[in-house]
Amino acid sequence: MDTHIQDEKLTVTFHGYTNNIQKINAIARHLDIITIADLLTFYPLRYEKQYAFKDIQSISINHGIVRLYGYLSHINIKVTRNKKKYLQGTFQDKTGSIQLIWFKKIQWFFKYLKVGSYFTITGYLRTNDGLLSVIHPHIAFSIPKKTQQFMPIYSKGDMLKKNAISNQWIQEKILQILTQKKISENLPHYVLQQYYLQDRTTALYNIHQPKNEILLQKAKQRLKFEELFYLQLSILLVKKQYKKLPAKILLKTDLLKKFYTQHLQFTLTDAQKKVIRSIYQDLKSGYQMNRLLQGDVGSGKTIVAFFSMLIAIDNGTQVVLMAPTTLLAEQHYQNILNYCRYLDITVAILTGNTKPKQKRAIITALALGNIDIIMGTHALISEDVQFKCLGLAVIDEQHRFGVKQRANLWKKNNKDKPPHMLIMTATPIPRTLAMTLYGDLDLAIIDDKPLGRIPIKTYHFYENYRLKVFNAIQKQISQGYQAYIIYPLIEESEKLQYKYLIEGYEAIKRFFKDIPISIVHGKMHAQDKAQEMEKFVQGKTKIMVSTTVIEVGIHVDNATVILIENAERFGLAQLHQLRGRVGRSQKQSYCYLMTDYKISSEGKSRMQIMVQTQDGFKIAQEDMNIRGPGDIMGTQQSGIINLKIADICTDESILLQVRAIVQKIIAEDACLTQQKHSMVKSYMNYINQKQTLAKIG
Ligand code: ADP
Ligand code: MG
Repeated sequence: MDTHIQDEKLTVTFHGYTNNIQKINAIARHLDIITIADLLTFYPLRYEKQYAFKDIQSISINHGIVRLYGYLSHINIKVTRNKKKYLQGTFQDKTGSIQLIWFKKIQWFFKYLKVGSYFTITGYLRTNDGLLSVIHPHIAFSIPKKTQQFMPIYSKGDMLKKNAISNQWIQEKILQILTQKKISENLPHYVLQQYYLQDRTTALYNIHQPKNEILLQKAKQRLKFEELFYLQLSILLVKKQYKKLPAKILLKTDLLKKFYTQHLQFTLTDAQKKVIRSIYQDLKSGYQMNRLLQGDVGSGKTIVAFFSMLIAIDNGTQVVLMAPTTLLAEQHYQNILNYCRYLDITVAILTGNTKPKQKRAIITALALGNIDIIMGTHALISEDVQFKCLGLAVIDEQHRFGVKQRANLWKKNNKDKPPHMLIMTATPIPRTLAMTLYGDLDLAIIDDKPLGRIPIKTYHFYENYRLKVFNAIQKQISQGYQAYIIYPLIEESEKLQYKYLIEGYEAIKRFFKDIPISIVHGKMHAQDKAQEMEKFVQGKTKIMVSTTVIEVGIHVDNATVILIENAERFGLAQLHQLRGRVGRSQKQSYCYLMTDYKISSEGKSRMQIMVQTQDGFKIAQEDMNIRGPGDIMGTQQSGIINLKIADICTDESILLQVRAIVQKIIAEDACLTQQKHSMVKSYMNYINQKQTLAKIG
């Protein structure tokens, strides 16, 4: 079998070429390019089209851009009829001559370009006083060995320049490796055939030295396929291991049936039913469930979680529900308490606000198995909490919990088996991204809304509409409804943010004279914040003025209008989450997006998308298109999608192909012992080793 020479260090490969060592150290330090493989997968950012060299006698005015090699036979500074200086040169090759003209940097070029020196010019051909001319030609002094139609450009900002590393140097080193080393194939032969993929060496040649557009595209296709293949393979292998973890079989559903038939006050949507069924399949399978429940704001995830809890409790196990904030934990607590009214279930809450004495009592009760459902925040896992028998862990708003924290939960179990995991998120993640980010989880999606929900009417206004917007809010309040007015978080300046908020608040107070108003902001004490929120939840105050602290937070079904100030300062996902604070009942709701007159075209398109659609998945997709996938999930996860060539947004079709073939391989030969998968196994080992080394480093 081939050994993987790709982890050979460049310092070894180019040992002896002493003039290179400094450059090799520079790319190691700045670009993390250390091994042969690192350099080979340092793909060009783009390609510059190069024009074939022409003889001067063969060109005519119709040629457009030309590329010529020759020398200056004459150069002089001249003056136009209107007394403007310009530089004029005669550029010559064996076959003829043309005129070069400069209007700018005249002195510099005059000094710099010596008569008789050879160079290459590229530029647009025109006529000047009847002579063929190029004005301000692009000049290159290196003598190109041959014409390349596609010049690979690797430049990564100033770094390459600073270390005197040229595109050509990188090109040469890559070519040297490709011609001297045997690069082993890492995709099975039958996969190459089935998907018409170039072999690895060909693809690497063609990405760095494309002969034409078609070969370049084929090379990209192959290398993207390869990248996604190994990403999906490692994700799905991990997932398979998860699946193998034996977990408690949760079979009984009497409690669920009782609640469903006697106490549920609304009809479940089809999607909710479907999701509950798949969760039940997982719970009774004997293997640990790892499910991500995705559903837009207001799609009704809580009740789905509650059904899952009922199954767990029915089978003699305990449940934990974790929320990202105390407030959200408390809201869940109220909701679940309400659902449990007619059921014999013990519910408790543990947050940073819980008094020490009460906390001790709860911890004892949990260990004894006297509490069925415990709700709380991070405090839950950091505290010295142990369960008698934890059967199910529900996590709301996944993106705020890391994978590590999830795993920590398992250790809370006195029983050796891990709990089933249900992770809920309202951040709609496009399918391709979800497959990559959460490939280790099974996906369940609520893609409908409870019956009778009316689309929220959304408008984008400028300041001149303020009075009308305020009047509209007033009208809603006079009908008994409530309103949110949201100010942006201004990261650059907390002071400025506070100033805007307070100024806004003063103006609101002046306009809505006799209406009770709540205000919540970052400078307030937690207790005061909670009190203000509480007043709004109870309907004692009619307007909630706030920064985005309520983004993940309170549910007030009676709120029908939200005004978002400086909406251009919010990302799409955030705007969508904020809008989700209204429209949570069967009443018509409104969302007003207020922006500056001066607004970037990107900002404008965000407003348009918000006005046009309420489909969270569509918005997420647009968001990803605008910002790129890295930004969406925040930095901590960007490693996973730090792809070198594939693009999560645009390469969905390749991803789907890859996904299918990887699934088949895992089903057929998960240990990769078949001969036809030998290269996959050895390449996986190589990747794993590399990752281990990176971790140690
Ligand atoms: P989210 O998915 O944002 O967490 P919730 O679970 O808080 O949404 O549900 C939003 C509101 O919709 C709650 O008041 C809930 O009781 C209600 N709800 C959930 N499912 C349905 C349904 N099938 N029919 C009617 N109302 C529902
Ligand atoms: Mg929720």
